[in-house]
Amino acid sequence: MKISIKKDTHTGEQPIRVLKHNLTTRLVKRNEEYIKTLHSDFKLDKNIKYNIAFLPLVDKQCPYINNKGVINIHETYLSYVWIVCYYFYVLHEELLVIPEQYKRNLPIRKNQNLSLYNEAEELFNYGKSLIVAYSSWDKEYFPNPEYYDENTEQGWYILRTNDLFVEVLNFILYHETAHAELEHLKKISIGSLSNDDRKKLELEADTRAIELILSNKENQNSTEVSIIIGLASMLFFSNNLNGGKNHPNIDTRLENAISSIKPTNENPIWSMLVIFIKVWGQQFNLGIEEKTFYIDYKEMYYDLLSQVK
Ligand SMILES: [Zn+2]
Repeated sequence: MKISIKKDTHTGEQPIRVLKHNLTTRLVKRNEEYIKTLHSDFKLDKNIKYNIAFLPLVDKQCPYINNKGVINIHETYLSYVWIVCYYFYVLHEELLVIPEQYKRNLPIRKNQNLSLYNEAEELFNYGKSLIVAYSSWDKEYFPNPEYYDENTEQGWYILRTNDLFVEVLNFILYHETAHAELEHLKKISIGSLSNDDRKKLELEADTRAIELILSNKENQNSTEVSIIIGLASMLFFSNNLNGGKNHPNIDTRLENAISSIKPTNENPIWSMLVIFIKVWGQQFNLGIEEKTFYIDYKEMYYDLLSQVK
C-alpha cells in the first residue's frame, strides 16, 4: 500500500520537499569542520535558500551561490535531478545489469521488469519537460519520493534513488561551497574576468567538490557515479555540449571529473556515461552509431562521444 511520508516541516509544492532536510544534513555531516570554517570566515551563509516557484529550469531555477554566500536551490531543479537519478538507475539495472546477469549466468537479485523501465521513461519525459515549462509532478501516477509503497519493486528503486539523489546534490552543493571557499565570488564581482577565466573557476570548483566528497563517503562507487550524474544531467538541456559563456563544455567537465576519479576500466561510471550519451543522442536525433563490439564501456563511451564532439 502506498504511504505518504510527508511531515509538516516538509514545506514546498513538489514531492521532492520530503528530502530537503536530508540535503543539508548530509552536507554538514560530511565535513563539519570545513563548513564551520566557511561560516566563521563569513564566506558561507548558515542557511541554504530553498526556492519554491512554479517556474521551469530555464527561468533561473538552477542552483547558485550569491555574493553574500547564500546558496540557492530550487524545487524545480531538485525535482529534475531526482527524476534523472531514478530514470538512469532503473535503466542501468533493468536494461544493462540484469540482462548481463542472465547472459553470463550470474546470480540475479530479481527478474527483469520492463514495465518499471517504461514507467521510468514516462517520468523522465515529464522531468525533461520541466526544463522549459513548469507543471506539477503527479504523485498519484508517477514514481516520486513522497508517496509510494516501499514493499514493491518501484519502492525499492525509490529508496535507493533518494540516497543517490542526496549524494548528487551533495556534489552540487559542494561545488557551490567551493566557489565561496576559493573566493571565486570576489574574483567575479571585481570584474575583468574573461569567459575563459570564468570557465576555469567552474572546473576548479568541480575539482574541489570532487575532492571533498570523495574524501568522506559511505560508498566509493555510488559517490563516483553521483558526480557523473550531477554533470551529465545537464546534457538534456540542449543538442550540443556547449556550456555557454561562463561554463565549460559538458564533456570538458566530465573529463575533468574522470581525471580526478581515476576510474579503472571496469568502473561503473563508464556504463553510466554510455547510457547518458545514448539517451541524449536519441533525444536530439544526433545519429550516434554503435559498433558491434567494444572491449569495454570506456572504449564505447569515447567512441560515442567522438561522434558528437
Ligand atoms: Zn559554479
